[in-house]
Amino acid sequence: MAEAGIIDGKAVAARVREQLKGDVAQFVARTGVQPGLATVLVGGDPASEVYVASKRKSSVAAGMADLHQHLPEDATQQEVEGLLRELAASPAVSGILLQLPVPAHLDAASLIELIPFEKDVDGLTTMSVGLLAQGKKGLRPCTPSGVIELLDAYDVPIEGANVVVIGRSELVGRPVAQLLVNRNATVTIAHSRTKDLAGICRSADVIVAAVGVKGLVNADFVKPGAVVIDVGIHRGPDGLSGDVDFAAVSPVASLITPVPGGVGPMTIAMLLANTLRAAELQHTLTG
Ligand code: NAD
Repeated sequence: MAEAGIIDGKAVAARVREQLKGDVAQFVARTGVQPGLATVLVGGDPASEVYVASKRKSSVAAGMADLHQHLPEDATQQEVEGLLRELAASPAVSGILLQLPVPAHLDAASLIELIPFEKDVDGLTTMSVGLLAQGKKGLRPCTPSGVIELLDAYDVPIEGANVVVIGRSELVGRPVAQLLVNRNATVTIAHSRTKDLAGICRSADVIVAAVGVKGLVNADFVKPGAVVIDVGIHRGPDGLSGDVDFAAVSPVASLITPVPGGVGPMTIAMLLANTLRAAELQHTLTG
């Protein structure tokens, strides 16, 4: 059987970032305001440092101001809260991103809630989740938005499509399902208690796997010609792999995202898009 077409997330992300550069320049010319991203890192978790460095570099490349803030590992809840309140009030700050996880002595949930919805570039506050659920203007979580962007980039029909999302996390599964419903897909959310997962997935025109179980989705899960989006990231001795058994699924699917190079590169691209949207939102709210 023929191999599936590859959804090239690197190429789509590069296009989004190039487009954004122009959009940022136009926004600056129109408003005199440079969008600014405040990444907030507490402590020195090596993986988090790498992620934050990459977000900062990309925001500068897009023409935005890098307003990074670093607090020590032993920063108190009050100190982090104080910083977030300052950033929330500062007109120079368009977007605030609290890098997760924060050290265990901090209450991440209550910190996140200090980010005002118009600066919530991760889309994780209760307010942003509510705005998404109601289909109202707001900022959407980055990885889920990246999934939609990839489907659109490859002209995969969403309206009326049967989509199975595997995973119901606040970060990926739930918001991606909600975004798909808002685009008129018929969405099934499957999770760890789902019965006959493979059978349910076989009904899908599109499968979005956000499970965190390496290679869970095999050929039995996939209707011939279905589109398979793999959000999973697993680091192993042979490099990165996803929640989908790529070699097994590729001959059955019509389109598939690789790992790496599929959904992954979209996350930062959508963060930048969110930062510009945040600047626009604030400009409309205050202008
Ligand atoms: P999570 O652990 O918070 O959620 C996993 C979900 O999968 C849960 O809702 C659970 O019910 C479901 N699940 C677990 N085992 C299952 C099983 N055997 N059958 C069916 N459902 C099952 O994970 P998450 O934060 O949503 O992330 C999912 C994956 O996506 C991880 O591999 C993570 O590393 C990756 N991820 C990638 C990006 C990116 O930028 N590409 C961003 C975020 C997360």
